[in-house]
Amino acid sequence: MLIGCPKEIKPQEFRVGLTPRAAAEVIAHGHAVLVETGAGNGAGFTDDDYRAVGAQVAETAQEVFARAELVVKVKEPQAGERKMLREGQVLFTYLHLAPDPEQTRDLLASGVTAIAYETVTDPDGRLPLLAPMSEVAGKLAPQVGAWTLQKANGGRGVLMGGVPGVGPAKVVVIGGGVVGTQAARVAAGMGADVTVLDKSLTRLRQLDDGFRQEFSTGFTSSGLTAELVAGADMVIGAVLVPGAAAPRVVTREMLGTMKPGAALVDVAIDQGGCFETSHATTHEDPTYEVDGIMHYCVANMPGAVARTSTLALGNATLPFLLALADKGWRQACEDDPHLLDGLNVHAGQLTCYPVGMAQGIDV
Ligand code: NAD
Repeated sequence: MLIGCPKEIKPQEFRVGLTPRAAAEVIAHGHAVLVETGAGNGAGFTDDDYRAVGAQVAETAQEVFARAELVVKVKEPQAGERKMLREGQVLFTYLHLAPDPEQTRDLLASGVTAIAYETVTDPDGRLPLLAPMSEVAGKLAPQVGAWTLQKANGGRGVLMGGVPGVGPAKVVVIGGGVVGTQAARVAAGMGADVTVLDKSLTRLRQLDDGFRQEFSTGFTSSGLTAELVAGADMVIGAVLVPGAAAPRVVTREMLGTMKPGAALVDVAIDQGGCFETSHATTHEDPTYEVDGIMHYCVANMPGAVARTSTLALGNATLPFLLALADKGWRQACEDDPHLLDGLNVHAGQLTCYPVGMAQGIDV
């Protein structure tokens, strides 16, 4: 099978759908790989890195879309890319179709078979192709929060780990899932005094078993949240209620109780944000101030570390990509119900129930 990887064209997207190492693996399985020139540049891979493992390099995206039987990407196809998709071709990428009727209409019209990373599941009901990006965002959160806390960046001028004789920063992480766990571990590793709040006792037990030496845990209640937020130097928002907008766990009123220059890092901003005063920002202009409190609300945090993110995403997608290439999408989905969960569109039909529900289309 010929697998094509175009260069991402969404603004500020530096990741690439196929790493040279993944390309080598696909080629070792007897397939051919066609990569658009420059596709890997943003993640630090040159055309020659791809050529070295036996991939071909195309001069244009048109050539990749025209020749590939399976197109592997990172972001949802943009309008111009959607015009190049065709019946019988398989598209494997993040789609996030539910809030995007325009893209849904174009994919249905193209006849393509589209498998979305974000709806592929694992045997525990988790989302294995979203988890690596949550891990990246979680580990980044204390790093960007620490930068925000610096005086020159509008922050309180507090060092995460303190120094002998001066105590560390107090960090509160709200939501102890994938993002929250990684955030808490990094913040604790930087020497901060960390507490993780979650509304799930089961999750708190797991965190306590695994990380009691590194950070404390607390059961979310409005009273405890208000108390901890008031005393915090940094609050990291990492809650998720699947399929719903993020709950507002920190209100504007609570900002008035906080220390001036404290930092709020809202990782859940891609689901609308979990602080009442959050609005999405960009890597170019990541922070703003409300009532003396600094907010960092970048919606695509993994883009800041495009190379790590590309490698992490590639590790997670490769087994599914190989199954699709080796068996063809139909057999691969028949053999693996978790990959089948990823099927969103096939030959003009919507095949993902939540997307249909969101858009009022029969599935
Ligand atoms: P997850 O499902 O692994 O964890 C979410 C946790 O939040 C769960 O443990 C849940 O019990 C807890 N929770 C839900 N409501 C709560 C509440 N009211 N109070 C306390 N805890 C609550 O999800 P995740 O993978 O860690 O993702 C967290 C958020 O980060 C999501 O919104 C995700 O989309 C977002 N995210 C953002 C970026 C970015 O670049 N900004 C990148 C990756 C993930």
